[in-house]
Amino acid sequence: MRWLSDIVSPKLRDFVGSPREKTEDDWLSCPRCGRQTGTDAWIDALRICPACDHHMPMNAAERLALIFGDEDYHAIDLPKVPVDPLRFRDLRRYTDRIKEAQAATGQTEALVVCHGPIADETVVVAALNPEFMDGSIGTAVGEGLITAARLAIVQESALVVVVSSSGIRLREGAHALMQPIRIMVAINQVRERKLPYIVVLASPTSKEIASFFVQSAHIVIAEPGAIGVKVTPPAQSEQVDETDDAKQSEESQNRGLENAYADIVVHRRELHRTLANLIGLLKHPGPSAEVLPLHGDASAGAQG
Ligand SMILES: [Zn+2]
Repeated sequence: MRWLSDIVSPKLRDFVGSPREKTEDDWLSCPRCGRQTGTDAWIDALRICPACDHHMPMNAAERLALIFGDEDYHAIDLPKVPVDPLRFRDLRRYTDRIKEAQAATGQTEALVVCHGPIADETVVVAALNPEFMDGSIGTAVGEGLITAARLAIVQESALVVVVSSSGIRLREGAHALMQPIRIMVAINQVRERKLPYIVVLASPTSKEIASFFVQSAHIVIAEPGAIGVKVTPPAQSEQVDETDDAKQSEESQNRGLENAYADIVVHRRELHRTLANLIGLLKHPGPSAEVLPLHGDASAGAQG
């Protein structure tokens, strides 16, 4: 956790929580090439495989630290919403699943919203957390994204949404199914104010969720390998995992698919710099200097 603890702000560290205890044999293997790397080394390397460059999922706190870099940024409180409106239960209670995800991530829901400067421009960044119930979108995430859009309007700043999500959180039924239209209305209000709306597609994002978020974006950035995760219905979520062969087959089918959704595919190490450049261009689309004719007597020459 050295890389994260070096640059994450104290406020963010509060909701990152304490790093969990690790043992010497706490290793992760790359799902693409099988390279075994210590967990700390993975995190220090921005969760990029040193052997094959595969981009592993990042949690929201790591993502925000990466995007804001050394800048002073702050998380905002998101609206409280009724938990478990349907009193849903499959193999376990939905409320138990929520508590488990909160304990594991130190966060209350699958979205974190922060604001702060990127290259002298104030930016609101809403990051979905793939470690919290696969970043699935329910009422709390919907309210959080609407809040992020409103904050961008109030601050007249760009809105960046980092998408890493398996889909709609079906355990909330119709309450969750209403969220996309609510989110879209809020995002369109950002666009009506002529404020930049940038989407970053990050691993793992389902095709359906990618299609939804990119439809109104000014610019869509994708990380390599961002697209492709199978959405598992709640009732089947605790059944035996897919075989390795099936996973590898799905991964190979989805390889390169991010090119179909994104304007640019950007390596994770270039994400901060790319966002800084794009936000500057979108906020100040005019020429950076006064436009002058090449020669003082250009018009006279044309007449002659
Ligand atoms: Zn690898």
